[in-house]
Amino acid sequence: MAAISILKERENQIYEKGAEPFSMTCEKQSLAGSISQRACVFCGSRVVLYPIADALHLVHGPIGCAAYTWDIRGALSSGPQLHRLSFSTDLQEKDVIFGGEKKLYQALTTLIDKHSPQAAFVYATCIVGIIGDDVDAVCKRVSAEKGIPVLPVHSEGFKGTKKDGYKAACEALFNLVGTGATDEIGPQSINILGEFNIGGEAWIIKDYYQKMGVQVVSVITGDGRVADVKRSHGAALNVVQCSGSMTYLAKMMEEKYGIPFIRVSYFGIEDVSQALYDVAGHFADNPDIMARTKELVRHEITQVQPRLAKIKKALQGKKAAIYVGGAFKAFSLIKALRHIGMSVVLAGSQTGTQEDYEVLRDMCDDGCVIVDDANPLELSKYVIEKKADLVIGGVKERPIAYKMGIGFCDHNHERKIPLAGYVGMLNFAQEVYGTVMSPVWKLTPPKVTSSGRE
Ligand code: SF4
Repeated sequence: MAAISILKERENQIYEKGAEPFSMTCEKQSLAGSISQRACVFCGSRVVLYPIADALHLVHGPIGCAAYTWDIRGALSSGPQLHRLSFSTDLQEKDVIFGGEKKLYQALTTLIDKHSPQAAFVYATCIVGIIGDDVDAVCKRVSAEKGIPVLPVHSEGFKGTKKDGYKAACEALFNLVGTGATDEIGPQSINILGEFNIGGEAWIIKDYYQKMGVQVVSVITGDGRVADVKRSHGAALNVVQCSGSMTYLAKMMEEKYGIPFIRVSYFGIEDVSQALYDVAGHFADNPDIMARTKELVRHEITQVQPRLAKIKKALQGKKAAIYVGGAFKAFSLIKALRHIGMSVVLAGSQTGTQEDYEVLRDMCDDGCVIVDDANPLELSKYVIEKKADLVIGGVKERPIAYKMGIGFCDHNHERKIPLAGYVGMLNFAQEVYGTVMSPVWKLTPPKVTSSGRE
């Protein structure tokens, strides 16, 4: 097979471990014509705010923006399901010419009357940025009339990268923080930031903290409630998982309310244990919390380790290619895959920073390709050249893997099973095992894998 070439302008966003000096460009807008795997700014905001289940989410723009992000995450709610509806102002030609503010006002007031949400988020899309609707003014007016927070999300799709969408979402959330009462919040309390309850993961994590004796004030945003976000400034610590999306909010809360934050990951045995120990360590004045944490970790590992050991035996030597949104997730994935005998030959992210990529370089094995803001061609190239047995990514990477005739595991929005915590690690290992070892790959067109089949 002829080697797949890459665009010259993309070369400095790709690095192969072992090459010296280390140099990678990142945090820039996608190259025109590159067909980036990245989502737009609006989508970045949407995925962060979507799991707030008792809020109205209104997409101000053409119907396509709403359709594109309809029910975008498998974020579960233990109560209201309002977040799962995708409301749109459905802007059309006349609205673009004469403005969409009236339509926005009508949509907002009608929907608030019909659904009685606790707050409303109004997402500005590309066209709204172009025609210049005063979304803030409409939100302010409706908020005064209806008596609920109506929050503009400045997420015009073209104005940056997906990361700018995270920032716009954090700014909208920050308007809610500090507006609720903090009664009944104790000194050993936390907010869980950047956990989106995909497949019920927030419930697993909350259960660990409850067993440790740590009060969870809010999860932002998994199974989220407006009232919890409003009182989240009463917590003693912010525990940030998806750092790309939520560090900005944590920093604003630290500055205004003096709440410190730590970065954690709940994925993989090592990282989830470290996360729980880090939180327990923060409340060192209560040694019972650390004692309970040690017991919890010991118990949970004992439950899953025998099965993980069997899976490791079967998967030893297999290779994975991973492409994720935030690079922090890639760190955990590399460790988790090593735990079950697999190595990573391609590690990429949509929104990694220079610091993230330096960490990735240090973690990866020699020869591993690190890529920022990849496109399908680059992913295909390195999956083939590095002979990966499995691709781990999101909805846009799935067809790339299947077209190449290799297995795929969803580690993003669309999955239905939880991958966080100890039980999540077992779910992940079982899914990887079932995918990589499936006999179906013997029936797929010729490909190249670590087992040497061409
Ligand atoms: S906001 Fe812009 S880039 Fe994003 S889906 Fe809508 S039109 Fe497309």
